[in-house]
Parts: sequence; C-alpha cells; structure tokens
Amino acid sequence: AVWNTEQGWHDARITPRVPLQIDPATSVLHYAQEIFEGMKAYRTADGAMALFRPQENARRFNASARRMAMPEIPEALFLEAVRQVVATDADWFPGVPGGALYIRPFMFSSDVRLGVRPASEYRFLVIVSPVGNYFRGDPTAIKLWVSRNYVRAAPGGTGEAKCGGNYAGSLVAQAEAIERGCDQVVYLDAIERKWVEELGGMNLFFVMDDGTLVTPPLGGTILPGITRDSLITIARDEGLTVREERYGIDQWRADAASGRLVESFACGTAAVVTPVGEVRDGDSVFTIGSGGPGQLTQRLRQRLVDIQYGRAPDRHNWVESIG
Ligand code: PMP
Repeated sequence: AVWNTEQGWHDARITPRVPLQIDPATSVLHYAQEIFEGMKAYRTADGAMALFRPQENARRFNASARRMAMPEIPEALFLEAVRQVVATDADWFPGVPGGALYIRPFMFSSDVRLGVRPASEYRFLVIVSPVGNYFRGDPTAIKLWVSRNYVRAAPGGTGEAKCGGNYAGSLVAQAEAIERGCDQVVYLDAIERKWVEELGGMNLFFVMDDGTLVTPPLGGTILPGITRDSLITIARDEGLTVREERYGIDQWRADAASGRLVESFACGTAAVVTPVGEVRDGDSVFTIGSGGPGQLTQRLRQRLVDIQYGRAPDRHNWVESIG
C-alpha cells in the first residue's frame, strides 16, 4: 500500500514479489525512516495456518511509526495485509517440524527528495519467508557477549521502536560478539552502564533459585517484546512470581556464582525461548547454572510453542487461524 499526504493509504494489493525500482534520491536511503515487524505463522495440527497475537504487532508498528514521524496504518489494513499474504503463500509452505512462515511487514519513506524532514510519501509492504529454528541445534544454550563499547539505546532515543536504524547501529557490536565466540550481545543501559537491558534481537529473563522470574522493565530503551509479554502471562498463569525490575550485570555475575540465580533465557519471535549458558564480559566468563538448558526455561518454551502450534488451550485468545 502507498501513503501520501493527499490520499492517505491507498492502492493496497497482493502482487508477485519483484525487485523495487527506486530513485537514488529516495528519502529512506538518506534519512532512514524505516520501521518493521517480525512475526510468524505456524501450521497447526489441523493443517491451518495460525498467527500469534498479530494485533500486538500492529500496535507496536504504529508506536514505531509515531516515534519516526511516519503515518500510522489502520490496524485492520495491517492485519488484512498479513492475513492475505499468508493465505496466498500458505500452499507452498511445507510446514517443517519446528518451522514457521516468517512474516516481515515494513514501511519506508519513498519521497524522491533530499531534505531532513518527514517525508510526504510512504510504502507499506509485507513479505514472507519460511524459517527453521533461529539457532542451530536449538535449544542448546547460547553464549552472550557483554558490550562495553556500544549501547543499543539511550533515553529519548529510538530503542523502544522497531526501526532499521537501531539494528544498523548494533551490527558492529554483534560482529564483536561473534569474533569472541559468542552468539548475541548483551546491552547495558546508556547512563550508568550497569543495568542489563536486552540482547540485539531478544529480551532477557532471569530465574532465581526460589522459582521467581526477573525481567528488565520497559523504560523506553527496551523493545517491548511480544514474546516477553506472553511469557510473563504464561508464567503467572502457572503461579510463578514475575518481577519487572532492574538487574545489574555485577548482580547477575554474583548471583550466578552463588547459585541464587539458576537459569537465564532469551526470548523473541525468532528465538522463541533460548537458554543462556555463558556470559562473557571482557576477559571474564561466568556460567549460568549447569551451562545447559534449564528446567523452567524448557517448560516455559514448551508451554508457549504448544499454544502457538494449537496443541494447548488458548485461554487468552492469542491464536488467530487463517482459513
Ligand atoms: N528486542 C529486540 C531488540 C528485538 O529485535 C526483538 C525481536 N523483535 C525482541 C526484543 C523480541 O521481540 P518479540 O518477542 O516481539 O519478537
């Protein structure tokens, strides 16, 4: 679909996927007004495709749009576009075990004009691609690299929005993590450089020895993950205590050493629930629990995927079947 100041959103249609032709002066290439969402459609036991909490993606997309001075898209148009693309592509999607159809809705400024101001024309597109598990050998535990040189987001910045620029700025840190033999970057807060915020593409949870869960609070610098929110609900449904509270990197190291912390896991649409085995901070390393997938981590992961694949009761109405 296309948006411009005269017509608003118009020209919504399904087309074969073809390369875009864009002018070298297209606004997004210079000023990076671009936002996106990441979601998955799962093939359920009855053969239908199912979306997981798609309204939440629509809402977060519009929150990102407001932050980037872009036009919001009516929730119904966002959802209809996602449903139609999935329905169109479902036939060739084989539904590999543990796999899903990844959905990428995105919007960018398409004005052909240089000048630092909000554009007057935008494009909204949805593309899909089949995906397996995000990490090879999932759910083996991943290794994290604590970034001391780079922050992901600062107060007043764009950390809460899902915009391409956030990821552009994170690639150098991710490359550093890979160089150190790790899978993902742990970002600390920009002010005190001590509070654990999130990973490059996942939110974090900490499991204490009394069974309580701790996750960093959303304070404007963390992406409000839909998986994070779902796991908070699933854990509370199970009678577990979940505290959204700040957790420091030094505390994490000390609690892992003393045994007060028994598990840690990362979560997101791509990663689902992925155990954290080891954390590298400069030349020091600490191990989480046994270094392998923890019990509660595996249980919560199973609870979540059972709902997503339609194998468990959907008591919160999270799953939408596409007929
Ligand atoms: N944090 C960041 C920085 C991310 O890119 C993602 C993936 N969208 C998440 C957290 C997890 O969000 P969600 O559970 O909605 O996929």
